Amino acid sequence: MKNLGKFGMYGGCYVSELLIPVLSEVEAAFLQYKDDPEFLEEFHTLLKDFAGRPTPITELPTLSKELGCTVVLKREDLLHGGAHKTNNVIGQALLAQRMGKTELIAETGAGQHGVATAMVGALFNIPIKIFMGSKDIERQRPNVQRMELFGAEVIPVESGSKSLKDAINEAMRYWTAHSSSTYYVFGTVAGPHPFPELVAFFQKVIGEEARAQCLERYGKLPHTVCACVGGGSNAIGIFRAFLDDKNVKLVGVEPAGEGIATGKHGAALCEGRPGSLHGSYSYCLQDSDGQIQEAHSISAGLDYPGVGPEHSALKDSSRVQYIAVTDKDAVEAFLMLTKKEGIIPALEPAHAIAAIKQIATSLKQEDILLVNLSGRGDKDLDHIISYLKNHE
Ligand SMILES: *Cc1c(COP(=O)(O)O)cnc(C)c1O
Repeated sequence: MKNLGKFGMYGGCYVSELLIPVLSEVEAAFLQYKDDPEFLEEFHTLLKDFAGRPTPITELPTLSKELGCTVVLKREDLLHGGAHKTNNVIGQALLAQRMGKTELIAETGAGQHGVATAMVGALFNIPIKIFMGSKDIERQRPNVQRMELFGAEVIPVESGSKSLKDAINEAMRYWTAHSSSTYYVFGTVAGPHPFPELVAFFQKVIGEEARAQCLERYGKLPHTVCACVGGGSNAIGIFRAFLDDKNVKLVGVEPAGEGIATGKHGAALCEGRPGSLHGSYSYCLQDSDGQIQEAHSISAGLDYPGVGPEHSALKDSSRVQYIAVTDKDAVEAFLMLTKKEGIIPALEPAHAIAAIKQIATSLKQEDILLVNLSGRGDKDLDHIISYLKNHE
């Protein structure tokens, strides 16, 4: 492959020999279309007419007063589908169509990426197979029903721990065997090259819009930009536009789960070490023998033991500061944004909201603290209510 997708020492393409030509074909298509005016026109038209871009920015009146800085949200929760994932699946479905592929596959843990992929399958009228651990199918019934309503076939994975890690392995296996007709829609900026670069490309619209919106409304850039980090796609999506603005501080927020000390967390960058996972070299959670450990978080979307390689490089260079927030603090932030501002966040970006109190202590009233609200919280209501019952 032309470019091995390295971010410093991280990234790369550590997959079976059989998958190398398959990934090379995706890379070639991506390099061909990423500057193609017709492709980009079609992508941005769908983002606008189907998905509802541009999403607005919203200044929070109550929290800005209380915290002593100007808190502004980038409203990916208002995107069709309820989260930023829509940007990525539209981009990849278009690419698959250009490549002449007649079937899309994806893996899903909690089901959100599966639902997003099934949604574009319906839009593009392409058959979809979603690989999902049988344990996750039991835990995530409503998302399975949504995928099936869109017309996707949900394939239970019975191997290993019957959850996300095994679903990814199974999807890779299926792809290897059916690559001439099938495109694999990867869900975040992790995995083998070219996915980290390709998913970032389709998500960078978030930061490009937000940067222009801040300049237009406030005549200046934010002091700090903050986003939650699971695999890292919504964070890279908003950070990319600000990487060269050396005065803009960037903060990524990982899940500290039940607390770092309990070992039940998902803070790959804050607590992990560089290692190999799903075809890429990056920070990940592993035991002393290098075995990948399970991640834990109240939010299904942050429950991943690895993280995209670009984040690993941004951590080492200190361009982005990574911190971790517990389940308990995320739930508190969820309730705070709901009660004080009338916005119900998804549990994932509730982690970013939980970090703003601490960040605000070094900011002045006129300083802008821009937070990426990556998704809305309707999907999490049952979960929150049972969490509150169990923690009374
Ligand atoms: C999936 C998801 C995430 C986590 O994925 P990233 O790739 O880290 O962005 C965050 N927020 C929401 C709302 C999600 O659905």
